[in-house]
Amino acid sequence: MKNILIAPRKYVQGRGVIKEIGGYLRLLGKKPLVLWDARVKGIVGDRVLASLREAGLAAVDVDFRGDSTRAEVARVVQIAREKGTDVAVGIGGGKTLDTAKAAAAAVGMKTVTCPTIASNDSPTSSFTVWYDEKGNCTGFESWGVNPDLVLVDTQVIADAPARAFVAGMGDALATWIEAEAAMKTRAGNLAGGGATMAAMAIARLCYDTLLEFGLEAKQAVEQHVVTPAVEKVVEANVLLSGLGFESGGVATAHMIANCLPSLPECHGLMHGEEVGFGLASQLALDEDMPAAQRATIVDFEIAAGLPVTFADLHLEGITRERLLAIGDVCAGKGSLCENHPFEVTSESIVDAMIAADVFGRARKRLAGKP
Ligand SMILES: [Zn+2]
Repeated sequence: MKNILIAPRKYVQGRGVIKEIGGYLRLLGKKPLVLWDARVKGIVGDRVLASLREAGLAAVDVDFRGDSTRAEVARVVQIAREKGTDVAVGIGGGKTLDTAKAAAAAVGMKTVTCPTIASNDSPTSSFTVWYDEKGNCTGFESWGVNPDLVLVDTQVIADAPARAFVAGMGDALATWIEAEAAMKTRAGNLAGGGATMAAMAIARLCYDTLLEFGLEAKQAVEQHVVTPAVEKVVEANVLLSGLGFESGGVATAHMIANCLPSLPECHGLMHGEEVGFGLASQLALDEDMPAAQRATIVDFEIAAGLPVTFADLHLEGITRERLLAIGDVCAGKGSLCENHPFEVTSESIVDAMIAADVFGRARKRLAGKP
């Protein structure tokens, strides 16, 4: 089997770097298309447009309409073709970045992602997660190339709600645990090969960084300050987790997370929060998981404020029948749950979710948390 590592061509992270965006864009194209929503533009618009002017670039400014749907991408593609833009710049959350990536792939533009929250793995990846007009996730698609530039302004991230930052920690915390599972079974990563040693080392560094600096960084972000811990955890959430999941591999934590949005009670949860519970469930499922490590991870999730119980997901009292619907999807052919070196069934998934809930409640009681 061949091993494959994929990554963006350049990654820039630091406080205030959004003011330098024009200089970086000038190296990539002559006519950028900037995709952002009104809220994001209200926050960073002045700085971005001033930097573009300074670099002698006149941007085509496109208002993002809220979801990464096929219709929205088609609309952006049409504007790009009419205006002759050569680099797509997504500024905002994962859906904005994913729409910019899809439009860039369709037109043959260069791609720049500039996340304003560190809540998920989108910025460095080659993927777009698709949604329908009702806001339901309908799948994901790789464009075969990663962004040409990922630009992360840590002050902008620290100014955003701490909840998004914590959700990013949930997505990132699962990265190494899932990559290890996929590695053991020699399951392919999302780049279509095996995991390199580099990808596994990156995934492990992501995990270690979160456990060491995650809670301190969360406290800093609650005060909207940038500290060395914030810089480290932003890098873990965006770069290490992004490379780790795509070139490492994913497993049950993401499979369960991807199923939770089908339950109406879970609407309004962020992806990384769903991964947080998915991870707690994978730990309960995994025959090889040492008890002490499981407790360490779940205790960290509780301290960070990530969901580890049904109540945290607004699913208190959920019936076994409803959980079985998730179990059936997870045990289905081609599921990410095949990336374990043991058999996974509907029943074992349901039992793991129930066991995760019981364990989460017990650890919360020990920690004196409601
Ligand atoms: Zn994820």
